[in-house]
Amino acid sequence: MIDRILYGRFYKGDIMSRMTKEEVKQRVCKAIVDAQPRLRELAESIMAEPELGFKEVKTSKKVQAMFDELGISYTTGHALTGVKGRMKGRDSKYTVAMVGELDAILCPRHPRADDLTGAAHCCGHNVQITNMFAVAMGLQAVMDELAGDVVLFAVPAEEMIEIDYRNKLREQGKLKYMGGKQQLIYEGAFDDIDMAMQMHVETAKTPAGEMGLGSTSNGFVSKLIEYHGKVAHAAQAPHEGINALNAALMGVMGVNSIRETFKESDYFRFHPIINQGGTLVNCVPDYVQVESYVRASNIDAIVDGNHRVNRALKAGGDAVGATCVIKDLPGYLPMRNDERMNALLRENSNPIFGEANVYQGPHITASTDMGDVSHLMPVIHPWVGCINGVLHSAEYEISVPDVAYIKTAQALAMTIVDLLYDDAAGAKDVLDNFTPALNKESYIELLDRIAKGE
Ligand SMILES: [Zn+2]
Ligand SMILES: [Zn+2]
Repeated sequence: MIDRILYGRFYKGDIMSRMTKEEVKQRVCKAIVDAQPRLRELAESIMAEPELGFKEVKTSKKVQAMFDELGISYTTGHALTGVKGRMKGRDSKYTVAMVGELDAILCPRHPRADDLTGAAHCCGHNVQITNMFAVAMGLQAVMDELAGDVVLFAVPAEEMIEIDYRNKLREQGKLKYMGGKQQLIYEGAFDDIDMAMQMHVETAKTPAGEMGLGSTSNGFVSKLIEYHGKVAHAAQAPHEGINALNAALMGVMGVNSIRETFKESDYFRFHPIINQGGTLVNCVPDYVQVESYVRASNIDAIVDGNHRVNRALKAGGDAVGATCVIKDLPGYLPMRNDERMNALLRENSNPIFGEANVYQGPHITASTDMGDVSHLMPVIHPWVGCINGVLHSAEYEISVPDVAYIKTAQALAMTIVDLLYDDAAGAKDVLDNFTPALNKESYIELLDRIAKGE
């Protein structure tokens, strides 16, 4: 009893916390500032060695080394290259995940692009990984004050690219799905997580940078489109050939001819590239491969738009007597932000960014597989204004480093404190008011139906 009177305040965390929530937050914010030299070094190291999705081997090793350095236990091999760390709270009532993505995109013209592969971090995923560790280093000293765990999840392959390559991995049985978080959900890596958050960088509107909250985003179906024709000498005997390139061009023009029929409010997008357009200039192209997405803001518009796009693409084949084969593969779901978590992030962002620089984000026509996660659990995904140029461009560069590496991490880490302090009452409130749009089973079923072309 005396023990309890003497030490109760210190050891009976369930009765009384040692620090007030404000003190916890202050300590977290200071730790994030103190950790900056190491964090910037990591951001630069990942920037210097960009790798595409499911090939992030060196990046994964860097993340593992950082976990070792911080003494945080982790598991590897999630969706091939993913790394998942866990910091335990005083109690483990709920688990909040801070997610960072490992992959780069292809942008050979970017000054920091890899000479060999053309990969570059023009989507700022190195900033995400740095934010994930900033949150970890901020919270590490206060985990005893929290009644839940924090998962630090470095995830592969957010960018849905190299569809042909990934489809082959799928056919070889190395992956079931082509997006990192899709595969992670399928593998059960999100099963022990209750809610999740991640940031993405975005073009800064002012020199001070901004916190853009709660944007919804487009979802999409990803498409591999093949035109099969017949090879022949291109000048001597074109009448003997069937030109698959002409078929593909007609198919794309067909889609362009129905663009005006797509409603503005659905934010429809079709943006194909030609992966293979022929073999030799003096041979009639007998095989052309096109890759694209059909994107829109809602599932009905994606399904309807995709049906009509397919009809137009096939008509291109019919026009020249080629065969058009379309493989529809699961893309990502539109993003849903949890209102309660978003409100906490806003409260924490206001003093750091200044109220004028914290805004409700507009609908974003890009897509992220965090949208898939947001159909299963409460998620927030802010877009943080801190770069020059636009995403995926050769002009991409960090313009407001304090926002990229300090302020965003502070706001997210303080939001985790709000969720898990006070016996995790914040997390309980979020979960009590959340209705998932899908569960894991119905989610997998949906992806499989898309893959079957239904
Ligand atoms: Zn991107
Ligand atoms: Zn991205």
